[in-house]
Amino acid sequence: MAVDEAEVAEQGRLARQVLLQDIPWNIELWQGLIERYHASGLPHASLLLGNEGTGKRPLAFKLAKFLLCQAPDKRTARNTTSCNTCHSCKLIDAGSHPDYFVCDQEAKGKQIKVDLVRELNDFLSKTPQISACQVVQIYPIEAMNINASNALLKTLEEPSGESYLLLMAERLGSVLPTIRSRTQRISLHPPSTENALAWLAERMPNAAAEDLALALRQCGGGPLKAENWLREGLLAQDTAYTELMRNWLSGQQQLQDVSKALAKFDLLDTINWWTGLSLDIMKLGMGADDNQISHPLQAEWIRELVATVSKLKLLTLQQKLQEIAGRLAAGQGNYNASLLIESVLLDWQQSFSS
Ligand SMILES: [Zn+2]
Repeated sequence: MAVDEAEVAEQGRLARQVLLQDIPWNIELWQGLIERYHASGLPHASLLLGNEGTGKRPLAFKLAKFLLCQAPDKRTARNTTSCNTCHSCKLIDAGSHPDYFVCDQEAKGKQIKVDLVRELNDFLSKTPQISACQVVQIYPIEAMNINASNALLKTLEEPSGESYLLLMAERLGSVLPTIRSRTQRISLHPPSTENALAWLAERMPNAAAEDLALALRQCGGGPLKAENWLREGLLAQDTAYTELMRNWLSGQQQLQDVSKALAKFDLLDTINWWTGLSLDIMKLGMGADDNQISHPLQAEWIRELVATVSKLKLLTLQQKLQEIAGRLAAGQGNYNASLLIESVLLDWQQSFSS
């Protein structure tokens, strides 16, 4: 038990460290927000939009801390950051600010339910306890089910007192139009590959440069996601996926063995990995360079796949994978993992038999 607790504490420490750091590629965005705050004030509800790993959470946290900060000269001196010394700054750093409400998924792939939004509404109906305002943060908006979204709409329409809502999403398309139209968008962009790799190298000085590059590519250019990916040992997982799929598609391993091995991984990870592989096959099939795909080290094998693939079947498989991923990410996928894995493995096999 003690070991688990230590591990949880260490994970919490790492997560907070990520929150508390300044994300260099978002500095300009931050400055713009602060200027707006001092000039005309920030909107009641903002939608932070950006790919996973571009720093939405650290930005929201920094903004929340700044908005709640009690520094007496905050407005007169046109402060550009929180003071770090007031009661509010200390409480938020400790993770126990009474005027800051964080609405998160319980776990990856779980829905944000209406009960949590009701709690949020309840929170906003009270007056701030120590700061001049209240801040609410919701991530990811995609995980809210329809009842939760409807409960939130009322709050977005009728702001109560001095409050700020920071909503976060990865894809604009997955945000309900009614929520979109009631929020002001703040777009986050990933840094250049060069800057992202420099940042990653600083964060993980012991990691090999090629592992960093691979992780970044695998994570769609989102540096924070890439760091997480490496820390969670997903590089090893990636290698395991490759080996299993090579064995399966070359007929060296039986369906049940491969599916049993795959079932040990998170289902959404597996679906995403498969989607990545199918995209790589298509990209190489259309003449892309090895460095434009997510598995450059496996380019030779993927080229072999390109030679025998049925594009139509692969396209159908890809649509199926994206549909499943969407449902899983929204916490709606009530799948039998083993059956699903077996059926997708058979689809893969079918894509290569003419
Ligand atoms: Zn402060």
